[in-house]
Amino acid sequence: MIEMLDPRFKDCRGDDQVERLYQGCRWAEGPVYFPAHRSLVWSDIPNDRMLRWDEATGGVGPFRQPAGYTNGNTLDAEGRLVSCEHGNRRVTRTEHDGSITVIADRHQGKRFNSPNDAVVRSDGSIWFTDPSYGIDSDYEGHRAESEIGGCHVYRADPATGEVRIVADDFVRPNGLAFSLDERLLYIVDTRVNHIRAFEVTPQGTLTGGDVLAECSKGVFDGIRLDDAGRIWAAAGDGVHCFDPDGTLIGKIHFPETVSNLVFGGPKGNRLFVTATTSVYSIMLTVNGAPRLIDRR
Ligand code: MG
Repeated sequence: MIEMLDPRFKDCRGDDQVERLYQGCRWAEGPVYFPAHRSLVWSDIPNDRMLRWDEATGGVGPFRQPAGYTNGNTLDAEGRLVSCEHGNRRVTRTEHDGSITVIADRHQGKRFNSPNDAVVRSDGSIWFTDPSYGIDSDYEGHRAESEIGGCHVYRADPATGEVRIVADDFVRPNGLAFSLDERLLYIVDTRVNHIRAFEVTPQGTLTGGDVLAECSKGVFDGIRLDDAGRIWAAAGDGVHCFDPDGTLIGKIHFPETVSNLVFGGPKGNRLFVTATTSVYSIMLTVNGAPRLIDRR
């Protein structure tokens, strides 16, 4: 069900036909759409597997199992899968030949908690959040003590191997996304339950960090942008859409708690949502932000 809360949402609405593409996960997360082979891959964290939906046939099957309790996924500019692995406490890239490259697994010698979600910038750097959900218990990873002692946001440079903390004042950092011009980085804090907006400096550090939006139902998790710079955020009753000024302008309701989302389909106008046991999609009248592979 589509709920318009502000006239600015009228450009975004779809046909109100929510489809359930799959049911049978414990906690579905990390949807990523591969335009080259028209498929959606996502994580089912507690079941330690990743699944793939084929857009041509509608079929769903395993993509990777075990999957290192993978959570968030995204694509880099070459269309390669970048994954946050709770279980192995690292961020990896799956190469074109299928081999897996470790992008980052520690900072100053200490292992990460459990990388949650990642985004790739057009300069190739990979920015990710590291809350403790994968080490809090054995449910979403392996119970362990935090070596770092905090839940931070990091920037990894695959070209040099450098890993640096870019924000250390979060409680549970989670979803993150760049503005269309990449001058801003939006980051969710799920515990405090808001989205903050940081300015990205030319040196690849962050300044600012004011609160942009608060969550009005459930908690924020994954976020993505559309091609007008609006922010679409996973929340308790569905996906909340925010104008870039932070105003909640509309919601798309789903029957289960939503964890994450991605714009996909050949035109980027189909919203895919991971929601607890299920994956849903809906066609919209808006397109996702241009993908890195389309900007090259
Ligand atoms: Mg998340």
